[in-house]
Amino acid sequence: MALIVQKFGGSSVGDAEKIKLVAKRVIETHRAGNQVVVVVSAMGDTTDELLDLANGVSKNPYATPRELDMLLTAGERISVALLSMAINDMGEKSRSFSGLQAGIITDSTYGNARISEVTPDRVQSAITAGEIAIVAGFQGFDPSSGDITTLGRGGSDTTAVALAAGLHADVCEIYSDVDGVYTADPRLIPTARKLQAIDIDSMLELAAAGAKILFIRAVEFARRHKVNLRVRSTFSDDPGTIVYSTGESMEESIVAGVAVDKGQSKITVVGVPDVPGKAAEIFTVVAKGDVNIDMIVQNIAASSTHLSDISFTLPSDDFKKAVAALEMDKPSIGFESLQLDEKIGKLSVVGSGMKTHSGVSATLFGALAKAGVNIEMISTSEIRISVVTNIDQVDDAAKVVHSAFGLNGEAEAVVYAGTGR
Ligand code: ADP
Ligand code: ASP
Ligand code: MG
Repeated sequence: MALIVQKFGGSSVGDAEKIKLVAKRVIETHRAGNQVVVVVSAMGDTTDELLDLANGVSKNPYATPRELDMLLTAGERISVALLSMAINDMGEKSRSFSGLQAGIITDSTYGNARISEVTPDRVQSAITAGEIAIVAGFQGFDPSSGDITTLGRGGSDTTAVALAAGLHADVCEIYSDVDGVYTADPRLIPTARKLQAIDIDSMLELAAAGAKILFIRAVEFARRHKVNLRVRSTFSDDPGTIVYSTGESMEESIVAGVAVDKGQSKITVVGVPDVPGKAAEIFTVVAKGDVNIDMIVQNIAASSTHLSDISFTLPSDDFKKAVAALEMDKPSIGFESLQLDEKIGKLSVVGSGMKTHSGVSATLFGALAKAGVNIEMISTSEIRISVVTNIDQVDDAAKVVHSAFGLNGEAEAVVYAGTGR
């Protein structure tokens, strides 16, 4: 008997019919002789709609993060109860659990909490008794405050992986509205090809680069705890994509995929005195706001002025906060001005094969030059190259680069559901 954790995203439980379809799939797995733990997200775009409501009553709902988490976790409470009812109605025993009841223990960072411990005793008892356990994704419990927390947007993936690790599950299956992990977002590039398998390091870089098919923290968790992942569709029988947490990927391609991130901003601190410690001052000010910085570029100080410029990218959600913090400390840091780009495009090519192959940069920059795309910043890791471009050019740039690496498949990819919101 295998223990399988199955996670269904918002688009898979978007309405009553879809919830019944999920119930059927779950029951099939259970009747095949497996123990099944199911994690579900909020129905459709519920989380965004709850956020819209919050914005309707408050100028800044993020100023009351505890209340915001209380609100947002309601979405998953609805879907777990409905799925459990549907399963019971179809003749199998099932019980739903909130994040707290399922033992998802977190730190106290409202809105973006990290899981510190998983104590799924009640879930274990339910499956041992032959029931199907349904757990609310995206939510946890902080024992230090006694409060409910959320795990960051897309966090139901993390709940699923954490439960799979905590329960020593044989596999964690992530069900979504596409057939697996593709060489690019199939909504943007319909000719993207589905990957049979991808190594976890490439998956981690793709997720970090903006491919939201898997949430980055879930991939990190899977890598650390060696959880076997499979990404597949709720709406087809395609076997999906295996994400290997050990060993080498079966696919031998140099580049596994291309990702686009349109949720990034760029700040250039102009006229920074060229003396030791200034970069530390700037990034200390920004870090105080809990802002995650991605790329950083500093150019050489002009010899006449002894002033240099430092540019960095950050998530657009943190843009206003970072600008305000820098403006406040402008006199003490002593820079001249800030040059602001609230919306930039980031394009990344990712693949473990890049470690051992040369010529990837030449192909990438050649394709971008031919398409007339201006590059504003570049950063690389062993298995990724990212470039910053104008936001209006990034989608077309991705298409050109995807073709240049020969990643197009034979048939058009199918997107089964969801709004992509
Ligand atoms: P869910 O609600 O199931 O969590 P998400 O909307 O979070 O679904 O993620 C699924 C979406 O991820 C797909 O519909 C697709 O548009 C997008 N996506 C982005 N990059 C990729 C990729 N490389 N492969 C597959 N899907 C991708
Ligand atoms: N419902 C949450 C969100 O929309 C969590 C998730 O879907 O994974 O971000
Ligand atoms: Mg998701």
